[in-house]
Amino acid sequence: MVQALRLADGSAPSWGKVRRQGGGWREVSLSGCGLARDHTPRPGLKQTLVAAIGLHWGNTMEKKRWRLFIYTCFGGCATGVSASKACIRLWEENPEHIKIACLPAVIIPGKFKEMLKSADKRLLVDACSLRCGAKLFEREGMTVDEYLELTSQLKIKKERILPSADLQEQVYQVIKTEVQGLLRI
Ligand code: SF4
Repeated sequence: MVQALRLADGSAPSWGKVRRQGGGWREVSLSGCGLARDHTPRPGLKQTLVAAIGLHWGNTMEKKRWRLFIYTCFGGCATGVSASKACIRLWEENPEHIKIACLPAVIIPGKFKEMLKSADKRLLVDACSLRCGAKLFEREGMTVDEYLELTSQLKIKKERILPSADLQEQVYQVIKTEVQGLLRI
């Protein structure tokens, strides 16, 4: 999850900052964790950073193995928002077996390997026919056990609006059916 922070002049970190025009503020985009940058150990990367990230990866990889990772594109449209909410709801309903995984993180080699080891199965949900998630997975060589493209599945057009309660429920039921099939619950 990306969040924008505003930091006063002089207090911003030395990375990822943009000066705001005519203002005394800087916009800094931060990912939810430090893996937004490729910290894969390689020549030239500071040893201290490698050690720090290695510790982070190590801690992460000690965690339990999940039965299912759900990836969604979090698209800015009715089906995208519905999918996001449905995935959160399904995670809340099945916290022992399901986890939302970070779709953009498949481009990070360390995260890619970690994902392969951390879940038995993967479900990918794209919200429209552009299929961004599928293209990213294909490019990176990540496989899935089930795939959904919601506008085709529901036979609806992509709408750049917030979803109705009815659409949210439809999307939830569609994704839930796939999840139940994968978990056989
Ligand atoms: S698949 Fe469609 S809704 Fe999802 S990120 Fe791509 S353009 Fe947006």
